[in-house]
Amino acid sequence: MEIKVVKHILEANEVIASQNRKLFEEKGIYVANLMGSPGAGKTTLLEKTIEKLKETKSIAVIEGDIETSRDAERIAAHAIPTVQINTGGACHLDGNMVRGGLEGFDLDQIDLLIVENVGNLVCPAEFEIGENDKAMIISVTEGDDKPEKYPLMFQVSSVLLLNKIDLLPYLDFDMERFQGEAFKVNPRLKIMNISCKTGEGLDNWFRWIEERTSKKGS
Ligand code: MG
Ligand code: ZN
Repeated sequence: MEIKVVKHILEANEVIASQNRKLFEEKGIYVANLMGSPGAGKTTLLEKTIEKLKETKSIAVIEGDIETSRDAERIAAHAIPTVQINTGGACHLDGNMVRGGLEGFDLDQIDLLIVENVGNLVCPAEFEIGENDKAMIISVTEGDDKPEKYPLMFQVSSVLLLNKIDLLPYLDFDMERFQGEAFKVNPRLKIMNISCKTGEGLDNWFRWIEERTSKKGS
């Protein structure tokens, strides 16, 4: 019985997510759903991405957090349209919340919408929001054993950003193990090693998301 209820919620979300997807399609907006644990570096990655791409792409951001508008304030400081969604306890964004957030934008003026999901390695991966790609970021401080322990997010993501690689000398992080597990749960996963602190590897990511966005707009 309980399983039925959960399934029903996910199906109802699927309907709204596909309405969002249709709207994004009509408006030529490329949408990335950025997921990862609290502290993985989601907002910092967004700030770097905005600084790199804002001259050539019209970017908007939806920030999902349980409470506070701290992340939206950081993003809005880069002078791009930003909406903060406070879930008030829910540990993920769903299609309906994102649809509500869209009212804060002029969709005709946006090429790239990045949705920063609530910091959480689990259920954000279960809820479609109408995105083109799910992107996940994880930091080396979270450990090399996470792909098999939390497989869903790795499975549904198109790209995996491994952040804070500047800290590797101080950690017992087994890169081979991590990559092996990640490819085991998702052989199509594109893995990029990055450091938002030093900037290492970020050009790969910038190129990837810029290409996806350009393809969408043309
Ligand atoms: Mg954040
Ligand atoms: Zn949740």
